[in-house]
Amino acid sequence: MMARIFSGIQPSGELHIGNYLGAVKNWVQLQHQFESYFCVVNYHAITAAYDPPELQRRTHEMAVGLLAAGVDPSKATLFLQSQVPEHTELAWIFNTITPLGELERQVAFKEKAAKQEQVMAGLLNYPVLQAADILLYLAELVPVGEDQVQHLELSRVIARNWNARFSPEPPYFPEPQPRLTHTRRIVGLDGQSKMSKSLGNTIGILEEPESIWEKLRPAVTDPARQRKTDKGEPTKCPVIYPLHQAFSPEATVHEVETNCRQAKWGCIDCKKSLLTNIVNELTPIRERARDLQSNPARVTETLEAGAAKARVVASKTIRHVKEKMGLPLASNGG
Ligand code: SF4
Repeated sequence: MMARIFSGIQPSGELHIGNYLGAVKNWVQLQHQFESYFCVVNYHAITAAYDPPELQRRTHEMAVGLLAAGVDPSKATLFLQSQVPEHTELAWIFNTITPLGELERQVAFKEKAAKQEQVMAGLLNYPVLQAADILLYLAELVPVGEDQVQHLELSRVIARNWNARFSPEPPYFPEPQPRLTHTRRIVGLDGQSKMSKSLGNTIGILEEPESIWEKLRPAVTDPARQRKTDKGEPTKCPVIYPLHQAFSPEATVHEVETNCRQAKWGCIDCKKSLLTNIVNELTPIRERARDLQSNPARVTETLEAGAAKARVVASKTIRHVKEKMGLPLASNGG
């Protein structure tokens, strides 16, 4: 039997190449190796101020991007968090066994709370919902980058606490483990911060080649390369070289290294080569997205079918949990 994996993504609208390379491209591979549950976490999105029609638009766009990028509903279960009510039901149950101190010392909470005038309870309880997202599917693995490994620790604490109280032998919930992804952190086009839509330093996966070029052309490179004849060092090139490593064939990456160090290419030549490789990878995605955009009902139906599939597992978990906790079930078994 295939191991189960869970991963969630915020409904931030159109995917950019940072989320694509950092998460989604990896999902597309994982769906062939694991029983995969991929969720657009719109309940998490409402812990910050938001506009309802805008959230709905962004949620739909994210779903289009995921499907266009290759998440295959016949292989993976793709769904919206708000369409599987068991997520919040389990989160409430987990709230009752999670010490307040564990939540208050989460770094992400402290950082976000410091920026808000009034801190809502949902922000504090965000990691409890995250634990519910994962444990609802009894997922053993969660794909994460190295910088996110500690985020999973609280989910393990919650699984341990619940098991100790209600199902010690055998433990009901697995303690989810990180499945490290080897994707590198993609720096934004400014060459400084992480690629993020709010910073305006991204390339969208559905952008047209002309628009991508407008962004690549002025991107910062190795400062040693003032003139075409100046030799450079690719590892000091914060944006273009890492993107070549992500999008270009190995032979091209070697060519970039040689031509940069020996000043055989100017940076514009190097950027043109990168553009070709980015466009080669993104064009089929853009075409699939166009097709999906012209048929929004199909996307909605796909998500609803994904939620129905997810609920088969989710309702079973809730049934077991409630039975063990002395909580009578609803007449429909939920
Ligand atoms: Fe960067 Fe390419 Fe210019 Fe070298 S030649 S500095 S890798 S853009």
